[in-house]
Amino acid sequence: MQRSITLKIIRPRDEKISWEELGYLLGGLSMKVCRMSNFCMTHHLLHALKLETELLNPRGNLYCYPSLAEEYPEVPSGIICATETRARKLFKRSAAKVLRSETSLPGFRKGSSIPIPVAGYRIQLDDEGNYYAEIQLLSRQGAKTQKMPGRICLVMADNWRDKSAKPALQKIAAGKVRRGVATLFRAKKDWYLCIPYVVEPVKTEEDFEPGLVMGVAFGMFDALAYGFNTLLKRGAVSGEEVLSHHEKFMVRRKKIQEQYAWSGRKGQGREDALKPLRHLYEAEKNYRDLVNNRYAKWVVDIAVKNRCGEIHLDTGSGTSNGNKEILLSHWPLYDLKNKICRKAEEKGIRVTECAVPNLRTRCSHCGTEQDAGNRKRMFLCKNCGYGTTDKNKSNGYISADYNAARNLAVYETGE
Ligand SMILES: [Zn+2]
Repeated sequence: MQRSITLKIIRPRDEKISWEELGYLLGGLSMKVCRMSNFCMTHHLLHALKLETELLNPRGNLYCYPSLAEEYPEVPSGIICATETRARKLFKRSAAKVLRSETSLPGFRKGSSIPIPVAGYRIQLDDEGNYYAEIQLLSRQGAKTQKMPGRICLVMADNWRDKSAKPALQKIAAGKVRRGVATLFRAKKDWYLCIPYVVEPVKTEEDFEPGLVMGVAFGMFDALAYGFNTLLKRGAVSGEEVLSHHEKFMVRRKKIQEQYAWSGRKGQGREDALKPLRHLYEAEKNYRDLVNNRYAKWVVDIAVKNRCGEIHLDTGSGTSNGNKEILLSHWPLYDLKNKICRKAEEKGIRVTECAVPNLRTRCSHCGTEQDAGNRKRMFLCKNCGYGTTDKNKSNGYISADYNAARNLAVYETGE
């Protein structure tokens, strides 16, 4: 699984190097990378048109490196190679269309990002708990002429807002994950380092109970409910918190909209008047993101705890009247499903979305369809008596949401 993490560069670690010097160095490097890239692109085109013969390696392939290294002796060879590779890939992607004159040759512009090869950078942790990147920004010759170290340490922000950032950084610093070619780029006034890395699934399938399937349904009375095909374990997350939050959100939104209607502002004033509304939407988005992360973690943790390697997930749609009947009907379900898939994937758990017909009305024990109108929190099958209200019977109470989750767990995906 390919992931990446983007970190803002705060300052050079070495106090003898000023931001001005660093900014100048990075800006110059970016400019050189841009020129080198365009040089490569042009020569690739010439070569493709069989016009260029000068820059070939013994195998007859285009090889710009010697010429570039001569032209830019202060640029580390790793960056030149990475630049050439990037340009070659870009050319290959667009070559067919360019040669048919369907599009012009893609080019690099001022301010293009700087590729940093894997060997050209290291992520480390200092004694004060700061992460810094040691990056080769100058060749040996360049370091000599510019009187700066070749490898410069840059202190990076640890992205405290993004909870997954710190563990990722730890793993990268400890060398536990495979890193890819990083990129240094500038956005507005700041410089950033983007590090791609590959996450290996933590567990293999052998760690899982064979044949065990967990069903996860979006409930009608609870937010989420789960059940297993061969285990009696079950559970649900109450949706009360989400519902009360939604209510507050609607009230707040209505209030702001009413205020706006009264204000009667137009033009620039309209923008200002709608600012609180935009803030509200932003806060709501963050809240939903937070809750979805929590729900996804909850689902995947239960699967891991029960050594379950397969999850059958409710699609959240396809019910008789849209998805209005589920509690999370106003919720970004697509995002939630995505988060569950991602988190499960990390643990090596397979997630399948199952569109089970009549998911919420059929009996998970005998398959009999119940009256759709008779919607109750507790499930009782009119055919086999599954979910009997008799406390003395072993199967006890069955909630309608658990019944749906069990329907998913026992569902044959037809693979
Ligand atoms: Zn039944």
